[in-house]
Order: sequence, then structure tokens, then C-alpha cells
Amino acid sequence: MNTAYLLIGGNLGDRAAYLAEAVKQISVVCGRVTSISSLYETAAWGNTNQPAFYNQAICVETTLEPENLLARLLTIEIEMGRVREEKYGPRTIDLDILMVNDIVLDSPTLTIPHPQLHNRRFALLPLIEIAPTLLHPVLDKTMQELLLNCPDIKKKKKK
Ligand code: AMP
Repeated sequence: MNTAYLLIGGNLGDRAAYLAEAVKQISVVCGRVTSISSLYETAAWGNTNQPAFYNQAICVETTLEPENLLARLLTIEIEMGRVREEKYGPRTIDLDILMVNDIVLDSPTLTIPHPQLHNRRFALLPLIEIAPTLLHPVLDKTMQELLLNCPDIKKKKKK
């Protein structure tokens, strides 16, 4: 059994509803969802005409290996994207693998831990809520320690 930490994000449509639907889909096709963080709102980078993002971290107990987990997440993204395309336009859901156990992996399609995890407060804040003492296997620091050194200074609002 693998313990996977995922980050769910979205900034279009009914963001809370899309995130909730993504969690439901993940629990159906990936494994048991054992923790769910609050929703965190972050202003979009660059183009400020975009709505703000909602982000949420979850923990999933899964028998899937990381590449298979990613494949299923991409399928969920595409399926939810298709729904979105008809109604609201492109992509409302982004699914990232933050960590899986203490696996360190760098393949053409998948990097674990997520290569930007330590640089993104919008990933660290929800992850810390559900796993404060989790250790980054490459940087050898807890998520709390990574947050202290995180260069991303964008404001976050807990929903
Ligand atoms: P993006 O849509 O910008 O999140 O990029 C998605 C692509 O990044 C996927 O097709 C993956 O092949 C690749 N990728 C590499 N590492 C990860 C990761 N840890 N989690 C999710 N996607 C990843």
C-alpha cells in the first residue's frame, strides 16, 4: 500500500464543487482518501483577470504505483475538463502528485516529490494542515521547515 499526497487546484466555475467532485473521483479510481485539508484561496499568477485558485491537499491510500496513479489522475483531469469545456471553457481541475511514501523518482513523465513543492506556499500550506511532520526525502526537511524558507510570498486565505 502506498501513501500518496496530492494537490488539487482549480480556478473556474464552481471551484469548491469541482474540487469536491475531484476528491470523489479520486476515491473511486485511486484509493481511500484518508485526509482532506481545508480549501485555500490564492490569487492567480500573471494574468490577474483570472479568478483566484482554490487548492486543497489530500492523502490517499492506494495500491497503485506512482506512474499508474498519475495516469488515473490525468484521466480524471481530462474527464472533468471535457465537462468544463462545454460549460465554462478550459481546465478547471489540476491534479498533482506531491509525495508518495518516501519515493524519489525522476522520469520523463513524473517527478516525485513534486519539483515545485518546496517553492509553493499554496501547496505547502494545505499539506502542512494534514501532514505537518512529513519529511521531504530529498531536502531532508519537514513541510513546516520548508514553509519557513519558501520564497513564494503570495497571500493565502484559508476558506
Ligand atoms: P501540469 O498540467 O502543468 O500540472 O503538468 C502535468 C504534467 O506534468 C503531467 O502530464 C505529468 O507528466 C507531469 N508531471 C511530472 N511530475 C508530476 C507530478 N509530481 N504530479 C503531476 N504531474 C507531474
